Formats: sequence, structure tokens, C-alpha cells
Amino acid sequence: MSVPTRVASPAHQPTIAASRAFPVVELFGPTVQGEGPDAGRPAYFVRFGGCDFRCSWCDSMYAVEPAEVREHAEKLDAQAIRARLGSLAPGPRLVVLTGGNPALHELGELTRALQADGFEVAVETQGSVYRPWLATVDRLVVSPKPPSSGLDGELNRSRFTTFLTRARADGADPVLKIVVFDQADLDYARAIGSDHPELELHLSVGTPVGADDDDPIDDVIRRLRWLTEAAAATPELAGARVLPQLHVLAWGRARGV
Ligand code: SF4
Repeated sequence: MSVPTRVASPAHQPTIAASRAFPVVELFGPTVQGEGPDAGRPAYFVRFGGCDFRCSWCDSMYAVEPAEVREHAEKLDAQAIRARLGSLAPGPRLVVLTGGNPALHELGELTRALQADGFEVAVETQGSVYRPWLATVDRLVVSPKPPSSGLDGELNRSRFTTFLTRARADGADPVLKIVVFDQADLDYARAIGSDHPELELHLSVGTPVGADDDDPIDDVIRRLRWLTEAAAATPELAGARVLPQLHVLAWGRARGV
């Protein structure tokens, strides 16, 4: 298997018309994608600041709260992001754009440039804000938030349905990922799965904020066992895939890995 050139030579770099800068809270790798359809794949991550949600169990509030984003984010344009990725150790073919909610930003030019550099680009968003560039990535992972997030479920679900309609009209093939903490979340996943049986669905074991950072494994395994058995006993979830968050198993809640 050939290894892609991570940053094209200047002569082959696509022109980036706008030099708009984005708040980048973290940019790291090589690491592993810990969940969803690319779970287990080596990857680089670019985490953008700003989010329109406030989930009760968010583990990335430093990328959500405006004051924290202002404190921690570095303003980088697409060229600078490419350069930073090019300065990291080589290996992954996959770049994951995450947040916060990366869909708040106009990342079409960055996506095109990274693809021209030989990367696959995945994006993770909650499905509340749609922008056409989302249909141009290699993997659009949409994670509607279940009841345990504390959000308004009906509003969340209706915005999510609009998002999916627009994405699919633009030719996207979204994959669903739902974090599940409890039975109410599983019921939500079942409803979403019933609404969209044609979409690939991944269930991800939730890790509570405040869980033992040093040794979360027993808790994750207990939750994985429950979710696996519960999903297996739910006919509407027969096509779903259940996974723990691999990065939590490997590194606990450490940032930047
Ligand atoms: S959508 Fe994601 S980043 Fe935003 S608050 Fe919820 S868990 Fe945190």
C-alpha cells in the first residue's frame, strides 16, 4: 500500500483563495480514531473551537465555552493547518475534523486541500448545522445527542432530520454515531435507527465525565457489556455496531492523544 505524500510540493499545492483563520484548539497525531466507522484507524485530529450545544457529559468543554476557546485556540488558516499536519510524525492517511462543532466553520477549502494532499477527511458533527462542504468529505459522521446530554430531544431530532435531508440531497452518505449511557439513550438510538434504517449506525459506549481518569477500564467494560446485550436484544438495532471508545481504553481521558 502506498503511503500518501502528507503535504504536496508547493508546485502541486492547490490554491487556497481565502486565508480565513479558524480557531484550532488542538491539532495532534498520529493517534487512533477511537470510535465510529473508522475506529482503530491511525489518524490526525484537528479540533475546532465553538459549539452550539452544551451536552451535560461533554469532555471537550475547552472547545465549547467561548472564554475557553478564546484562551486556548490558535487562529490558523487552511495553509497553516496543512503545515502543522505536515510537521507531525508521518503515518496516518486520515484527518479527522472535530470540535466543538466543526460545521460552524466554512472548511470546504481546507477539506479540498487535504484531499489533494492525499488524505482522507472525516468530519464529526452533531447534525445541527448544515453546510454544503460537509457533503464533500470522505466520511461524514453525524452524532445526534441522546437524552442523557440534557438537550431538548425534539428540537435536536428535528434539526437533525433537516440536516440529513440537506446532506443527502447534496450527495452525502452520512454515518450515524450515537453515544449511549442508559436505557433512555438506547430508546433514542432505536427511534433514530427506525427513522433512518438505510444509514449505517454505530453505538458508542458513553464514558461519564468524572470517571476515574487513571483506570476507566472496569467501568467501560461494564458499560460495554450492558450496551452489547441491550442492543443485541433490540430488533431495530440488529444492524448497529457497538464499540467502546478505544481512546478511553488506551489513554483514559488524557487530551491530545
Ligand atoms: S456537541 Fe460535542 S462538543 Fe458540543 S457540547 Fe456536545 S459533546 Fe461537547
